[in-house]
Amino acid sequence: MTIDKIKGVLFGQAIGDALGLGTESMSKKEVELYYPNGLSCYDEIIQDYHRSRWNKGDWTDDTDMMVCIAEAIIKDKFINLTAIAQNFKDWFNGEPMGIGRHTFKVLAFADYVQYPQKVANVIWELSRGTSAANGGLMRTSVVGLLKENVEQYASDICSLTHYDPRCIGSCVIVSLLINSLVYQNRELSYEEVVSIARKYDSRIEEYVELAKKDDIALLELDECNSMGYTLKTLGAALWILWHSKTFEDGLLAVVNEGGDADTNAAVACSVLGAKYGYSSIPAKYINGLVEKNKLFELANNFIDVINSSKFF
Ligand SMILES: [Mg+2]
Repeated sequence: MTIDKIKGVLFGQAIGDALGLGTESMSKKEVELYYPNGLSCYDEIIQDYHRSRWNKGDWTDDTDMMVCIAEAIIKDKFINLTAIAQNFKDWFNGEPMGIGRHTFKVLAFADYVQYPQKVANVIWELSRGTSAANGGLMRTSVVGLLKENVEQYASDICSLTHYDPRCIGSCVIVSLLINSLVYQNRELSYEEVVSIARKYDSRIEEYVELAKKDDIALLELDECNSMGYTLKTLGAALWILWHSKTFEDGLLAVVNEGGDADTNAAVACSVLGAKYGYSSIPAKYINGLVEKNKLFELANNFIDVINSSKFF
């Protein structure tokens, strides 16, 4: 049961990311234009300039960075922030596609690996405290799979690149949601989510409230100036959790809203994977992942470490 949910989180993340690429940066109107029947499988992803750089069924930077965290945990068998920062830097040095602007600025710093949180703080302050992108949230799912100190680890790992309290609060909420679904088979209530939100930043609550309402359009996920905002992605994930009946139902709902769809779907579907488990995911989404074997191996190694380490 728990193993099925752990695999559900990791595969949910990758599948949301890979299918969401198909509508990334599109307005809802553009989604309807390119996919009159809705986007529902990797094969249908249009091959424009942005998307043709990936193969159909490839995940993007969101899952790459989640893998950076998972691989450091597997190697060290505890949380070594420097090792995670080093994996981020090595990944960055490979000139990955689709990296977010804020994350790029942080990882480009020469001394990044020595002082990651300091660098993240400097870049945030240079934005006058306005930069609150979803680059920390997009990779946090795996942190929710640790057995202890999840809140602290989620905060520490987020602030390796994203210092804003809205970013940290969103990472903590999603990581705790996943943790509770996987290890206690329990969904955090609306009130519990609000009380976590209040600990970090007063601006988070508004998006939790929007996610509770029936109409996903209220979140305006495709609004072009705010589509990479961490609270939009948090709102999308909560809306999907609270309104979807199945994994596929939620996947298709979030992907077909457009906006930062790969990230929104990566986060939302990792939470759905925690709720419904790997066995609830239709086989076509698993089999169509280009790097499915790599993810199977990663999931198995991660499960071994989680079951044997005394550190979490
Ligand atoms: Mg991406």
